[in-house]
Amino acid sequence: MEELAKKFKTEFVSDDLPDEKEIKDLMQWCSQFHKNNLRPSLSFRIEDGFVITANNVEPNNLSNDSLVSVINYDVYKNVFYIEGKKEPSIESIIHYLIYNTRDEINAIFNGHHDLILKNAEKLKLPITKNEQPEGTMELANEVLDILRDNDFVVIRNHGFVSLGRNMKEAGDLGIKILKKAQVLK
Ligand SMILES: [Zn+2]
Repeated sequence: MEELAKKFKTEFVSDDLPDEKEIKDLMQWCSQFHKNNLRPSLSFRIEDGFVITANNVEPNNLSNDSLVSVINYDVYKNVFYIEGKKEPSIESIIHYLIYNTRDEINAIFNGHHDLILKNAEKLKLPITKNEQPEGTMELANEVLDILRDNDFVVIRNHGFVSLGRNMKEAGDLGIKILKKAQVLK
């Protein structure tokens, strides 16, 4: 896919795996999102960054090495600094910008579902203006434009992002909107 041109780079500062107590919750939400066919990429805030699912992991059967800690991102070099063993989710720039902008947000759940895309207008959900390639700052800025004043956004022709002060809020919001979209079919 052509989007790879501007995709971020990764530098591993250590191979320490995340070990926060919230990881159990993250794994449960991942498996719930997976059961609903949402292709999840989920994160929660930690003191010096955030813990996020690695790219292309099997969401139903996560272990600690399916997760990484993002401890910094250099916007100018487009480099993520990572603790862990795998590449972070391709949606990591989106997560990074939201945590940097919304102080009260501690969980970001990112999913994908055709029925949410199809019914976004009927459900009066905010939708990003322009389509942008996955994994780019351009896409992350489109998403952030909406999430400055909203806790949910549909990424045009792609997926959605759901925010919460904790994982339960972010997860419940995503599932609630999925159920509404499924009723409309
Ligand atoms: Zn995506």
